[in-house]
Amino acid sequence: MLKKMGFLMTLIGCNVYSMAADQTTSWSYHGNSAPEYWGILAPEYATCNGYNQTPINITGSIDAQLPNLNIDYPSHAHTIINNGHTIQIAYTDGSSIEVDGERFALKQMHFHTPSENHIEGQSFPMELHLVHANAAGALAVIGVMFEYGQAHPQLKQLWQNMPKTKNQPKVIHTPNPIIATEFLPKKQDYYRFSGSLTTPPCSEGVRWLVMKQPLQASKDQIQQFDEVMGTHTNRPLQNLNGRMIVH
Ligand SMILES: [Zn+2]
Repeated sequence: MLKKMGFLMTLIGCNVYSMAADQTTSWSYHGNSAPEYWGILAPEYATCNGYNQTPINITGSIDAQLPNLNIDYPSHAHTIINNGHTIQIAYTDGSSIEVDGERFALKQMHFHTPSENHIEGQSFPMELHLVHANAAGALAVIGVMFEYGQAHPQLKQLWQNMPKTKNQPKVIHTPNPIIATEFLPKKQDYYRFSGSLTTPPCSEGVRWLVMKQPLQASKDQIQQFDEVMGTHTNRPLQNLNGRMIVH
């Protein structure tokens, strides 16, 4: 059953655990189905007009002495899919983080270009989302920014497996297993805020954990992703509406 769920999730994309009946209403980053219309495209996307939405500009954060996330990522990247909105990588079971005293299991990771969240008004060329869920299905997402610099070796291996055809999951073949820690910065200080999925149905109540320290990828690597997606893949910034950001 779990395996089946995992497969379904790789098919569906960004919206893990929100895969109800709404999968047929298509959305995009352009034209009539662009982000400004998501909230009215379908009744089940109404939350896209909500008040606790992501992405945001992370600024004015308050020191709350956030605890360590106790990141435990022993599992490896298993399948890769181009779902038409992003490139998404599913991991084998067994990796998790700790938030609010609970374990959240790593489900998948995917990319956006340019970054969705901003830090102190700054956009980054790419942002990685590591999506986790607890036993009750609540989500916690780690965001990691990429700046232009050295080529990222594991990203190179993933991109060698990148499917150009949509919705055809592929088993990843690399010389060595790719573990998710390769996609975390050395310093794991982070910002935290409450937000949403950044794609329809934009479900709220997502615990957002954005790493302060960026990773590096080459311009070429980021362009490769752009070329396969054929569009930018970032939702515009959303209003904070009184939410607090802590670090
Ligand atoms: Zn995302």
